[in-house]
Amino acid sequence: MFDRDDRRCRHCAADGDDESVTLRAYPLGDESANDAHESSLVTVCDDCYATLESVPEPTSMANDDLFRLVRDTTGVQSATISDIAAFASLATSLPDTLASAVDDGTDVDLDESIDEYRHTRRDVSLALDIVDARLERIAALESAADPDVQSSLAAFSDAAADLQSSLRRVVELGETVATGLDRCHGCFAALEDDPDACPTCGLAVRETADWRTDDGTLAFDRLFETINETLQEASTTTETLTDRTMTLAEQLTA
Ligand SMILES: [Zn+2]
Ligand SMILES: [Zn+2]
Repeated sequence: MFDRDDRRCRHCAADGDDESVTLRAYPLGDESANDAHESSLVTVCDDCYATLESVPEPTSMANDDLFRLVRDTTGVQSATISDIAAFASLATSLPDTLASAVDDGTDVDLDESIDEYRHTRRDVSLALDIVDARLERIAALESAADPDVQSSLAAFSDAAADLQSSLRRVVELGETVATGLDRCHGCFAALEDDPDACPTCGLAVRETADWRTDDGTLAFDRLFETINETLQEASTTTETLTDRTMTLAEQLTA
C-alpha cells in the first residue's frame, strides 16, 4: 500500500523516505471491508493520522490561532470540492468507458479509468475525514470562545457541516454508479450473483433499489441528474459558507 501511494502521505504529501516522517495505514470510512484489503486503506503520515484519530477536548485558543485553523480548514474543504467534482465526472463517464472497452476489445482506457476511480475515491474520502476531524476541533473551541465570536463560529460550523454532507452524498452517488455497473464501489472487482459483500475486498455492496427502473435496469440518467443537483447544492452552500467565514474572520482579526 505504501508503494502504491508512492511512500507519501496522501493528505499532506510528507515523504516517507524522510527520517522524521512515519507512514501509517488509515482505514477509510464505513469499512465493513476486511481490515487488510489495500483498497480500503490509505497512506498517511503520523501527524495527519493524529489529526484523524484524536478526540478534541473543549478548550480555548487565541483568536489568531483560531483564525488560522478556520482558514486552513476551509482551504482543505474547497480543494476537496474540486476533487469531488472530478470524481463525479469520472464516475459518470464509467458506463460509456466500460461499454466502449467491450466494443473495441481494448482495456487500456478502462484500466486507466478504474485506477483513477480507485485512487480518487480514496483521496476524497480521506480529505472528507480530515475536514471532519478539523471541524470537530473547531467545535470543541466554541464554548470557550469570546461571546461575540461564539455565534459566528456556530453559524460557520453549521454551513461547513452542510457542505460536508452534500459532498459525502456526491461521493456516495458516484460510488453507486460503480455498483450499478455490477462492480464493487471500493475495489471495482466484478460482482456476480448479487452478493451482499464484495468477494474480493469484503466491502458491503451498496443498495441500488432506489435507482432501478421497473424492468430492473439502473436509471443512470436519473442518478447523474441527482449527482449534478447535489453538486449544485454544494456550490450554493459554499457561497453561504464563504460569507460566514468572512464574518468570522473579521471578528477574529479585529
Ligand atoms: Zn500528512
Ligand atoms: Zn471490493
